[in-house]
Amino acid sequence: MNITVFQYPKSKHTRSLTPRLFKRYQTYKRYLQHEFSRTCVYCRQPDSSAPNLNFGVDHYKPKGVAKFAHLVCDYQNLYYCCGSCNSRKNNDWPVNEKDGPYIVNPCDYIMSQHLRFDAGNGMMTVRSKFGEYTEELLLLNDHTQVEFRKTTLHALKLTAKELASLQDQKAQLSKLLADHKITAAVHDAELNELNNEINLTDTLIQNLTGTKPPLPLKKMRFGVALS
Ligand SMILES: [Zn+2]
Repeated sequence: MNITVFQYPKSKHTRSLTPRLFKRYQTYKRYLQHEFSRTCVYCRQPDSSAPNLNFGVDHYKPKGVAKFAHLVCDYQNLYYCCGSCNSRKNNDWPVNEKDGPYIVNPCDYIMSQHLRFDAGNGMMTVRSKFGEYTEELLLLNDHTQVEFRKTTLHALKLTAKELASLQDQKAQLSKLLADHKITAAVHDAELNELNNEINLTDTLIQNLTGTKPPLPLKKMRFGVALS
């Protein structure tokens, strides 16, 4: 099971996709979802665990700051970001560009040197001045988010146990059939039910951890989804 949920990357991210230039920056959202493993780069929440959080495109150098207007569709300036972080970040940009403080992003910074997820209490702990600035501005330790992280980890623990138990029941079922204690029809019906439960549990784990693969990009043409 993926236990890296909510953890900040330990190395800088090098972009792997090179989408062509689109007229609308929103078109890059699908690329960014793949590029950043469907997780908000700032608060580390996977989009699949909160489908109503309105994930979208963040302009690191804000599009609302006149001198960055030309970067509105520059892929290198775009990040995958949840609605909360996006609106809290807004047009933030340091007056003193030499010293900052800057919000940390995964391409220019080693995120884990600035912020760290504490699985014990669900909090994002700060490890640098920029990390502290990011945590304060984006309210990374907002009570509801901390609780969400804690309950997600708990749900993952429970689902892992459930999955082990379902696999165990499956093994017992084959043994019952091998020992001629149940008919093939009963075996098949129960197996079908168990497989359905295993699939649902797998999907739940994938949604909570953000490991469910996003829809493939090849279904895009000229920036428009074909399906
Ligand atoms: Zn976020």
